[in-house]
Amino acid sequence: MQSMHSDIRICLLCDEPGGTIANLCDACACELPTLPEPCVTCGASAIPHTQTCRACTTRHPPVDRTVCALAYAPPVDYLIGRLKFRRDLRVVPALAGLLLRAVADEAAADWLAPVPITAARLRKRGFNQALEIARALGKSNGVRLTKAVHRRRGAETPQSSLPDTAARRANVADAFETRAAIGGHVVIVDDVVTTGSTVNALARCLKRAGACRVDVWAIARTP
Ligand SMILES: [Zn+2]
Ligand SMILES: [Zn+2]
Repeated sequence: MQSMHSDIRICLLCDEPGGTIANLCDACACELPTLPEPCVTCGASAIPHTQTCRACTTRHPPVDRTVCALAYAPPVDYLIGRLKFRRDLRVVPALAGLLLRAVADEAAADWLAPVPITAARLRKRGFNQALEIARALGKSNGVRLTKAVHRRRGAETPQSSLPDTAARRANVADAFETRAAIGGHVVIVDDVVTTGSTVNALARCLKRAGACRVDVWAIARTP
């Protein structure tokens, strides 16, 4: 019985048997919070009945389109924390399944570009959560991961400890570099989008390297 039990996929949130999304039951998967009427460009909450938020209509962000599967609110923060801080890799297929469902109608991409984390963070955590999620996505949709993008050396302050958008933008402005040309339609994959500074910096870098369209697919965005 013991060995049979280990084959059953149990919901990470309620311990009931899993459903269509790996390691989540259908009831828990349905109840996860989403962002109401998000901006199609940056994923932030837009003004009702418009597709694009005010900031995106006045500035021209380097990201062409953003899809965030969920809102970064309970229990999504718990699930992501369980992956990042407790190294529970059973969360990866669950998050990848939720993201795949959210991007089912999106245009096919040429490359997936997981957001690289700093070397210091990688040493501490042991893995890059965005890379793990992108690998699981690529396995399902057949899109290859680009290896052209690197995080520059240097001790960046964690984005979450910075007070505002301007400070976050300055902190990551030079964070990324590409070591090869890249073309076509690239999708940046990340776990949580907060102000968008990180994904915008990476999108700028990808466009300088030749990408003609850059979208963002993320698990969650802060409301
Ligand atoms: Zn459940
Ligand atoms: Zn926007």
